[in-house]
Amino acid sequence: MSDVRDLSLAPLGEKKMAWAYRHMPVLNSLEKTFEAEKPFKGLKITLSIHLEAKTACLCRVLEKGGAEMHVTGSNPLSTQDEVTAALAAGGMDVHAYHGAAPEEYERHLCAVLEAGPDIIIDDGGDLVHLIHMKYTNLIPKLLGGCEETTTGVQRLNIMAKAGALRFPMVAVNNAGCKYLFDNRYGTGQSVFDAINTTTNLIIAGKTVVIAGYGWCGKGTALRAKGLGARVIITEIDPIKAIEAVMDGFEVMPMAEAAKRGDIFVTVTGCEDVITREHFTVMQDGAILTNAGHFDVEVNLVQLAELAKSRREARKNIEGFVMEDGRTLYVIGEGRLVNLAAGDGHPAEIMDMSFAIQALSARYLVRNKGKLAADVISVPREVDEEVAAIKLRSLGITLDTLTEAQKAYIGL
Ligand code: NAD
Ligand code: SAH
Repeated sequence: MSDVRDLSLAPLGEKKMAWAYRHMPVLNSLEKTFEAEKPFKGLKITLSIHLEAKTACLCRVLEKGGAEMHVTGSNPLSTQDEVTAALAAGGMDVHAYHGAAPEEYERHLCAVLEAGPDIIIDDGGDLVHLIHMKYTNLIPKLLGGCEETTTGVQRLNIMAKAGALRFPMVAVNNAGCKYLFDNRYGTGQSVFDAINTTTNLIIAGKTVVIAGYGWCGKGTALRAKGLGARVIITEIDPIKAIEAVMDGFEVMPMAEAAKRGDIFVTVTGCEDVITREHFTVMQDGAILTNAGHFDVEVNLVQLAELAKSRREARKNIEGFVMEDGRTLYVIGEGRLVNLAAGDGHPAEIMDMSFAIQALSARYLVRNKGKLAADVISVPREVDEEVAAIKLRSLGITLDTLTEAQKAYIGL
């Protein structure tokens, strides 16, 4: 039986889902295919992804494909209670609350695993971790799983290299139709959607410091620039640093940038990117946000140690008052700002990411027993199928190669 906060919120959740789904043409197309094919008939899928409207649409499409769905979130602050209510009221097995305490969050992950999945859909590795630690009994039955994000794939690579990964995991993040759009344009837009609505302050004229110039960093920097900010990048990779310079941004160490920033966004997937030494030199009023996988990029333990008091400044903004009277503000508890203080990536973006998820899950079914316990790339045909449906929905057509052209470029 589902464990959600308030079933009476279901109509609001349905409304949010209908709006999102209206803008997800690739998933709409897959729904029709899956309804006819029923690729997941008789199979259980356990999913742990930010549980908001777009994710709920993915759950419904997989269900239309015949799957028995067992669903939880991937971050207590991104779960939306109206959406969980809508799914649960529709008969799906859902375990998630907005703002769940750590023990509740873990209980929900355990509940969806105890259903005994054939396939898992993970975001950041919580399900994979729990299966390897506590639910090894599930492994013989598992066809495999799909991983949504960069840090999750990095963790899988570490496990696979050590020979510790015990079932196939498809690296959804690494598909072109995922990271090129989700990580770059999705993060770029949704980070500022969240910062703008949470702070109700102007970006133009401010100095925005972005830590990390990977796919998420590039998108975030592009949007910050578009909104009129002065943008500073911090990096540890010399090639990415040159890229940032050539894209027109200032690059410097965080120790320098800390003194100059009005708004900080970390998107590195690393820990301790902003620490005590940086807090001590920041300007009064500096706003700290993180958009990377976990709430360890800004060291909030050290910030709390430096603070003589803390107070809520506005919904989702906490002020840390320093001994010298400066106040530093943190949005969304240092968790992914776009999801903890907003609705995450736009529907048109998650359309492609989740189409890759759905087709990767079908790939696991079609290749049952043939895949190694390793990190598996999304097949090129899957990536191209998603791109083709997306282009069709946009009314865009392409040139095609003649046989002579194919021979000329060696295809
Ligand atoms: P990426 O590997 O493309 O980029 C990360 C960049 O950070 C790299 O260029 C790396 O050199 C740099 N870096 C690492 N440690 C650093 C440090 N200490 N200081 C400065 N730079 C550092 O990864 P990505 O796809 O951009 O993802 C970044 C993070 O964001 C991951 O944790 C990923 O899971 C997460 N992510 C979040 C969202 C979201 O919705 N907020 C979306 C996609 C990915
Ligand atoms: N468990 C992690 C999850 C990493 S989140 C955590 O601490 O929160 C990063 C992933 O969130 C990205 O890869 C992106 O695909 C996904 N995401 C972004 N916006 C989303 C949305 N609106 N709905 C669902 N997932 C979203």
